[in-house]
Amino acid sequence: MNMPMSPAAIPPMHTWTPKALYLHIPFCTNKCFYCDFNSYVAEGQPIDAYLDAIEREMAQTARQLSPQQIETVFVGGGTPTVLTPAQLTRFLTAVRRHFPLAPGVEFTMEANPGTTDSAKLAAMLEGGVNRISFGAQSFNDELLKIIGRIHEAEDVVRSIANAKAAGFTNLSIDLMFGLPNQKLQHLKDSVSRALELDLPHYSLYGLKVEENTLFHRMYQRDELPLPEEEEELAMYQHLMERLAGAGYRQYEISNFARPGHESRHNTTYWRNEPYYGIGAGAHGYAHGLRHMNIKGVQPYIDASRKGLPRLESHPVDAAEAMEDFMMVGLRLLQGVKSSDFQTQFGPEDSLDSHFGATIQRLIEQGLLERVPEEHGYRLTAQGILLGNEVFGAFV
Ligand code: SF4
Repeated sequence: MNMPMSPAAIPPMHTWTPKALYLHIPFCTNKCFYCDFNSYVAEGQPIDAYLDAIEREMAQTARQLSPQQIETVFVGGGTPTVLTPAQLTRFLTAVRRHFPLAPGVEFTMEANPGTTDSAKLAAMLEGGVNRISFGAQSFNDELLKIIGRIHEAEDVVRSIANAKAAGFTNLSIDLMFGLPNQKLQHLKDSVSRALELDLPHYSLYGLKVEENTLFHRMYQRDELPLPEEEEELAMYQHLMERLAGAGYRQYEISNFARPGHESRHNTTYWRNEPYYGIGAGAHGYAHGLRHMNIKGVQPYIDASRKGLPRLESHPVDAAEAMEDFMMVGLRLLQGVKSSDFQTQFGPEDSLDSHFGATIQRLIEQGLLERVPEEHGYRLTAQGILLGNEVFGAFV
């Protein structure tokens, strides 16, 4: 349920109307063993009723918050490309009907290898999608099986070729490291295959064993042969070296891009700027309120008939917003700037007055460094490796 906003508690920037839009399609062909995202095996799910519901939420959001031009759209999941071409067309038409898209909008859709045939790619292109992020995860078929993926390495290569043939140029893939039974050599081989694809953007994530996953249950039974911590660290360092050597700039802890191809949508999150979050389990941050939607497919559909399908919603006060600013902002390798902090929280606020002691401690530990020309701070090389320690220090 929405709570009334207390204007005095909300710093001025947080009343800005979002220019970013996230939409969640919670269906997948199967459930990967490590996955704790809000996703459900598509077979037997009321997908058309879900599309009705997400359209109701778009309409209600647009009515309540009268959106200004949207500069970035991200359709995530789940696997949005499990929708049929007709469902994709219907969904993408609804997005454009309810939200005015800016010229030059970055419009990303997540996809899994093997779920994008030429009819779906045509529907995506026609519907305005201009960037695709593929969940490749590895180019080792054995490892793909171990983590519960149903595609093979060749599916990634074919999917990228199909996307390029359909006219998509702005493409990214996700790779994972720290997988069960993964050796450094496996990762080196996967990075070589990934770089051969010559893409403008790569996202590289370490496996986290999350609760309520098969991997968590295996971990508790001591049946998950994860690499040692040093080996996982060596994998991350190898990734950073290889991507840098191939001309990619690491602009965030897990993200690498050729100049001009950084994800504009995700940068919204890292800059702690507002965004609409629509769909089952989606989070949003708009007009000073953070919300989380109801997660289950049918409960979400039912709730969307009565109003906005919120599980929880709360006004963000200045202290929470400042902590968020530091935690997400330091993920960007350019770090946080005093000028951005003051834009969000007012001219009398500064990084040093709010976080001076914590910043000083992290500098002494060699994890943060000053960026004098920006009046800001960023992670050191050591801080990049121990990012979670740094982010946690600001809560
Ligand atoms: S494809 Fe992605 S969202 Fe779907 S189950 Fe696998 S990891 Fe989760």
